[in-house]
Amino acid sequence: MMHPTVLLSGVVKRYGEVQAIKDISFALNEGETVALVGHNGAGKTTLIKLMLGLIRPSAGSIKVMGEDPSSGDFSVRQRLGYLPESVAFHMALTGRETLAFYARLKRVSPSNSMDLLERVGLGAAAADRPVRTYSKGMRQRLGLAQALLGEPRLLLLDEPTSGLDPALRRRFYDLLSELRAKGTTILLSSHALTELEDRADRVLIVNDGVAIADGTLDDLRALARLPTRVSVRFRHGANIRSPKSVAVAWKPTAPETFEFEVAMEDKITLLKEVTANPDDVVMLHVNEPSLDDLYAHFLNAGRARV
Ligand code: ATP
Repeated sequence: MMHPTVLLSGVVKRYGEVQAIKDISFALNEGETVALVGHNGAGKTTLIKLMLGLIRPSAGSIKVMGEDPSSGDFSVRQRLGYLPESVAFHMALTGRETLAFYARLKRVSPSNSMDLLERVGLGAAAADRPVRTYSKGMRQRLGLAQALLGEPRLLLLDEPTSGLDPALRRRFYDLLSELRAKGTTILLSSHALTELEDRADRVLIVNDGVAIADGTLDDLRALARLPTRVSVRFRHGANIRSPKSVAVAWKPTAPETFEFEVAMEDKITLLKEVTANPDDVVMLHVNEPSLDDLYAHFLNAGRARV
């Protein structure tokens, strides 16, 4: 039987009076990339700390690669990579020395450190410079290289792309795709919803310590039943008439251009009608609800699980 990499069952975490996590259960499976999203203070960092074994749950159980992460002999720690939200390094050490230091802490071989630095785009020149001379993006990449020490089977990344420019972000996600192909389980906590959209297999939305949605983007779209937005521009002089096949509000936005919102189940019928004379259509945009839209929807709607 295949065991999930991470399994949380009925987890509660209290900090004194504050109940940061209120009965959360989920599994993270091998090779899965899961986006963990939620407002500030929703409980994301607390969940990550629980999976790392840095704090213990007040109730419920947590298994990471089959073991309790908060037990003293958590032997799978070496196979776990963590990138904290703000990475703080010793400024006098070079990138290479920093990785050697973390490799010792993690009790893994530092032999592939240079390879890791190359993979995150910190070449030999940068590797031998003290971290104090690094830009914010370079420090973030060094943090990622540190998280990749020991070929982790589970990567917990807290706001990993903050401070990275668009080209570096793309490179970062390419690296994640490679790891995912090798079966690494990746949890990405982020506020950058747009960039997560095509990258996460699954989205877990937490709000006020509760998991309010958990599923693939398509699952969440099916649950939310938000309309698809369609924008169409017709050829000048085309015989334009509002659609008859389904009832939609048809809104002119520019000469010969219309926008409408259509329910999921009516989308194909409507598109067929609108494009019945293909030569008359000069532009057609079909926008499915974005992760931003879904996030706002579930925050308003409360709990939804698939
Ligand atoms: P952000 O997006 O701002 O990083 P988050 O989703 O990571 O937020 P957490 O840091 O997990 O949120 O915090 C969840 C709740 O628990 C918040 O109300 C926070 O104030 C509270 N909290 C977190 N750590 C502690 C602590 N050590 N003592 C008391 N309360 C805490």
